[in-house]
Formats: sequence, structure tokens, C-alpha cells
Amino acid sequence: MEQNVNCDEDVSFKDLGVSDVLCEACAALKWKTPTKIQKEAIPVALQGKDVVGLAETGSGKTAAFAIPILQALLDHPQRYFALILTPTRELAYQISEQFEALGGGMGVKTAVIVGGMDMMSQALTLAKKPHILIATPGRLLDHLSNTKGFNLKALKFLVMDEADRILNMDFEVEVDKILKVIPRERNTYLFSATMTKKVQKLQRASLKDPVKVEVSNKYKTVDKLQQYYLFIPVRFKDVYLIHLLNEMAGNSFMVFCSTCNNTMSTALMLRNLGLAAVPLHGQMSQNKRLAALTKFRAKNRSILISTDVASRGLDIPHVDVVINFDIPTHSKDYIHRVGRTARAGRSGVAITFVTQYDVELYQRIEFLIDKKLPLYKTEESDVMCMQERVSEARRIANREMKDLNEKKGKRKKGGGDDEDDTEDAIGVRKRLKGKNKKK
Ligand code: AMP
Repeated sequence: MEQNVNCDEDVSFKDLGVSDVLCEACAALKWKTPTKIQKEAIPVALQGKDVVGLAETGSGKTAAFAIPILQALLDHPQRYFALILTPTRELAYQISEQFEALGGGMGVKTAVIVGGMDMMSQALTLAKKPHILIATPGRLLDHLSNTKGFNLKALKFLVMDEADRILNMDFEVEVDKILKVIPRERNTYLFSATMTKKVQKLQRASLKDPVKVEVSNKYKTVDKLQQYYLFIPVRFKDVYLIHLLNEMAGNSFMVFCSTCNNTMSTALMLRNLGLAAVPLHGQMSQNKRLAALTKFRAKNRSILISTDVASRGLDIPHVDVVINFDIPTHSKDYIHRVGRTARAGRSGVAITFVTQYDVELYQRIEFLIDKKLPLYKTEESDVMCMQERVSEARRIANREMKDLNEKKGKRKKGGGDDEDDTEDAIGVRKRLKGKNKKK
């Protein structure tokens, strides 16, 4: 893992009171020094205090709560020791990876309990009594109510990660119910990017005399992030996208679209042009979302086309370029989207497409970031030479989408699997080609 920009060179993990086994685990991950949030949170947590941490993904916050929990587990080994609540499935898997990387050497068993996966196999995993549970609130509550023999009456640690998002996603009722069935005598860590009223309320209801630690890394990377806008007519968005992808080939890209449909059809259009793109959106099954991320992380695909499902929280370290193909409707999403690049001290580029319909939204973004962005320079004649091929690719993609949706409709009627994906569309494309040949 790369050295984080927010690391403090003068302090070591050992100085913070971290035990040798865990210091070794950090060294094995090539973490030389603690990040800011780790420096602030770990000593307080090791003293047994509750912690409120204001920090975002990318700050090293996962290890800031994982290290104290693992250290306590070393002292008092126990099953169902800690519960980490997190808003999304992807984050749950990321957190479990870090627990395993840090605690694998000490034999720590973790389990991820999230929606979209089979309840029965999760019940079997729970029956093996893991030390650390990482869960989304809805599915955990399902198990607490329905899985025989499963309870968290001995729990010692509760972490509410990205609490603002947990509450924004209307998990408030589930969290309340979970709080009622776990012991009051426990340590609680609450991490949130922002301190909203709802988060304050949750803090009052669930933490005892907490110590607040805060790092704002929101604009830390800005000097390494080059941000631009591109003012173009809406009908030329596709050709400009292809131009940028070609011009900057060799980099890894995240392209943000506003809807699941547009994400799919743009991914198909790119594939029709021979570009290795993989879609990620909320209508894909959990397994497909994970597979898409794995391909992108492993650099088997260099372009991830996504809705805002991937704009927050996902730790994808090697994104070089973020393209806002569709401008975000909420200005704050802009910050989260461009935050996918220029991470961990690297540089990055973000380019936002602004069409004749987006001017007001764009002005709001400039107001929020308090910056006037430069125009990304392009040579129109270089861009437009691709126009015909690109429109043909989009036309084919639209036809593939139509066929895919029809197929999906039929499958639904037949009670089958109802998810769409580009692999299905490729099957459709092959059949279309066959049909065209016959004609
Ligand atoms: P997080 O904010 O927890 O999602 O962490 C962001 C990234 O920073 C992850 O890839 C971690 O593996 C990495 N990381 C966490 N702590 C450190 C550290 N002390 N030094 C270098 N990288 C770190």
C-alpha cells in the first residue's frame, strides 16, 4: 500500500501504543507511519474511550478503528467481539479486507453480512462464530430476528462507519433496533464524513462521553488534482468522451453517468468501439458489482463506467482520470466523484462535461468548490473525425439495450434472474450480427 499523504513522519505506530504484532502487520502492508486520523484516534481508543471521528474514506479511518479493536481482541479473545455497521456492501467488503490484512496473522475470523447474498449461507457463516462482523444494518437485523441461535449479547465493540450515509439511506430504524439488542456496556466508535443533525442525535443516543477527532482531507489533494470543464453541445458528448479516452489511453478512467440505463448503454457503446469498459450501477446484482470492481482494480479493464454508486467510499487506488460525462445534479457529489482520483499523494485529472443544459448546475459546483476551473483544450477537427463511427456505436448500443430490456421483461415473466449486464448484451449483439448477415 502506498504511503498516505496525511501521514506524520515523526510518529510511529509503536509510539501510539500499538502492540508489536499489529505494528508488524502494518509494516507488512508497507504502512510506514500512521495517518493523521490514526494518530489522533488510536491512542484515545486504546485508552478505552468512545470515539467520534470526522473523516472520509481515504484518510486511513478503517485502520483507525480496526487496530484498537484487534488489539483489544488480542488481550481478550472472544467470538462475536465487534460489529462494524456500514452503509454499502462494497464498503463492507473493503473493511473486511483490512481486518483480515491486519489481523490475519493472529487468526482473526471476520464475516461480511450484507444484502443481496444468500441468507442460508450467511447463517452458516454466523454459526461459525466469527470475531468480527461487518454488516449493512438491514441484513444484520434480518439475521438477528430470524437466524436461530444468533445474538450479539456478548458484543464488546460497535463501529458505525460512514454514519451520515447510514442515516441518509434511511437505516435509522434498523440502527435503533440493533442498538436495543446489543449490550450497553461496550465501546462505540462513530465515523462520519460530516456532522449532520441526525449524526449528532445518533451520537447522543449511542456513545458515552466520546472524544472527538477530526481530519478534513477534503481539499488536501486539490493541488495534485487538475480540474477542468469542457463546454460542448449535448449531441457531441459521446464523441468527446471517445476523444478523451483515446487521447489519454494508458490511464485508468472512471466515467460517471447519471442513470443506470445510461451507464449500461455508454459501456456498450465503448465496447462497440473496442474499448475495455466495465459498468457499475445499482441495478446490477452484488456479485456482478464485485466482479466489475475486481476487474477494474486488477487493471484488467481500464475504464469503469458508473453511477454515483461508486462516487463515495470505494477505495480504488489507481484512478488517473475522472470524467463527469453527466454532470452531477447534487454539487456535493462532484467532490466525491473527483475524490476518486489524486488519492494517496498521487496526481489526477478530473474533466466535467458541461452542455447547454448544465450551465446552472456547473455554476453551483464552482460556487461550492470556490474555484473557477479552466477549460480543457481540444482541437475540434481532431475530435469530430470520429463522429460517424461513434454515433454508429451508440446506435448499436441503444438497440442492444432495447433487446436486453425485452429479454429482461421476458425473464421476469418467467420468474428468472432479472439483472442486466454487458455480457448479456454481447450475446444479443452476436445474434443481431447474425440477423443482419441473413438480411
Ligand atoms: P480508508 O480511509 O480506511 O479507506 O483507507 C484508505 C487507504 O489508505 C487504504 O488503501 C489503506 O490500505 C491505506 N492506509 C491506511 N493506513 C495507512 C497508513 N498508515 N499508511 C499508508 N496507507 C494507509
